[in-house]
Amino acid sequence: MNATPRLVDSHAHLDMPEFDADRADVVRRAFGAGVAAILCPADLTRPASLPAIAALAGEFPTVLAAAGVHAHQAKDFTPDHLGELERLAAAGAIRAIGEIGLDYHYDFSPRQAQAEALRGQLAVAAKAGLPAIIHSRLAGPDIIAAVVAERYAGGGILHCFTEDWATARALLDRGFFVSFSGILTFPKAGALREVAARVPEDRLLVETDSPYLAPVPYRGSGRRNEPAFVVETARVLAGLRGLSLEALAEATTRNFAALFPFEKTGGQC
Ligand SMILES: [Zn+2]
Ligand SMILES: [Zn+2]
Repeated sequence: MNATPRLVDSHAHLDMPEFDADRADVVRRAFGAGVAAILCPADLTRPASLPAIAALAGEFPTVLAAAGVHAHQAKDFTPDHLGELERLAAAGAIRAIGEIGLDYHYDFSPRQAQAEALRGQLAVAAKAGLPAIIHSRLAGPDIIAAVVAERYAGGGILHCFTEDWATARALLDRGFFVSFSGILTFPKAGALREVAARVPEDRLLVETDSPYLAPVPYRGSGRRNEPAFVVETARVLAGLRGLSLEALAEATTRNFAALFPFEKTGGQC
């Protein structure tokens, strides 16, 4: 058996230009490092995004494609995007709707536009029966409000979670999984580590959010983050919870497979 723990990177932007030169090699390197699957969200407002992810998903059965309009791009969101998502979902071309959400830290788009894009896309996720991938930055109460207002019960992933326990609890109650990124490894993330210690084991996920947020020890080196580095976040999360890395890997990979059944590569799901 393979001695490396079998992990899943639940969120990686392998569509980004940072990966133009070596996209497939990055995936192969991750698989070589024990990563069993990678979920890649494409953004419909960037023309090169979905084709890049679709090509990877076509080449690698355990690279899973998602699509949506990000909170940052909500100013460019139109109802046509909802139709495109419906078509992609019906064709089986995507496994999730996202990432979608609210970002009140950067506020790159007006908040009203962010809310409209989020609610429209949640409705499509519900209709298509696909999980939603949620981005939330300083916006926990409004994410909850949108989920409640849409009566959204399809669950999904709270990706790169940085909100408080009350937000996690409310959305766990509505069926969401909570995914932690390399931020968990940062020295100043003590409050987040407390939240991470409390999330039920059957709802935990790990991710890189590549090419951003490289975990310690890669952080600060100016280095591009990539899915192979997800093990560093898993190691910290395991330590917080008093688990071995292997047990944490098994739990998070099982959780991911519950949400997105993916082709078996190691026989343990
Ligand atoms: Zn995000
Ligand atoms: Zn992202």
